[in-house]
Amino acid sequence: MSSRRSVLLEEMVWSEVESALEAGTRTAIVAVGSIEQHGPHLPLNMDTLDGDVLARRIASELGDALAAPTIRPGCSGHHMEFPGTITVPPETLMDVIRSYCRSLDEHGFEYIALVPTHGGNFGPVRTVAPDIAREIDAAVIPLADLDEHMQLLNEGLSEAGIEYDQNVIHAGAAETAVVLAIDEDLVRMDQLERGPEGDISTARLLSEGFRSITENGVLGDPNEATIEAGETIIQKVVETYAKYIETERRSI
Ligand SMILES: [Zn+2]
Repeated sequence: MSSRRSVLLEEMVWSEVESALEAGTRTAIVAVGSIEQHGPHLPLNMDTLDGDVLARRIASELGDALAAPTIRPGCSGHHMEFPGTITVPPETLMDVIRSYCRSLDEHGFEYIALVPTHGGNFGPVRTVAPDIAREIDAAVIPLADLDEHMQLLNEGLSEAGIEYDQNVIHAGAAETAVVLAIDEDLVRMDQLERGPEGDISTARLLSEGFRSITENGVLGDPNEATIEAGETIIQKVVETYAKYIETERRSI
């Protein structure tokens, strides 16, 4: 079994999952992504791709964890003015997360880390995590601080030598860099367009929709993105989150 396959729950057969549990694997990583517009240059599954790579690499970094299939779609009502976006109500997303956790708990996982990769999913994850934790034996570890998440992306860019900060990140330098690092072919390099920069009002984005602020769906400048920056960002998030999960597991 390749190392990639050995952490991807959905590519395993049931007896391999059983053996992993018997051998001491007790942690599941559940990314919560989206299917929503990401400008004229990034695919709709941007946040899902990001979730796939984070879950797989956090699981590998921990060494005793499996990556569950990334949940999607997410809560993307504020992107519905762009064709292709698929959204579910927060209650539906929370129900799916609850069912994932119940299932993993029943199989003997003791720690379930929830990793939202799309802004609209952070609230529902934060809301439902303590509810689920009260209901099941497994400990639920939400990594759902949106400001911290966006700060990690900005720091990753700056560590790669790109001084480019956005208070709200969507389809700009950081996310374009991440997709370049995951699969270059998915980025339409001839369609890189800038969007509004600087201080963006999240309240307005949510209440009036993304299109009220950005006609092409982009915030910031995707031209700043590089493969190297994408790799730095991914590695930074993976290391930070893995460390956090290790700390939580020790304290529970
Ligand atoms: Zn995104």
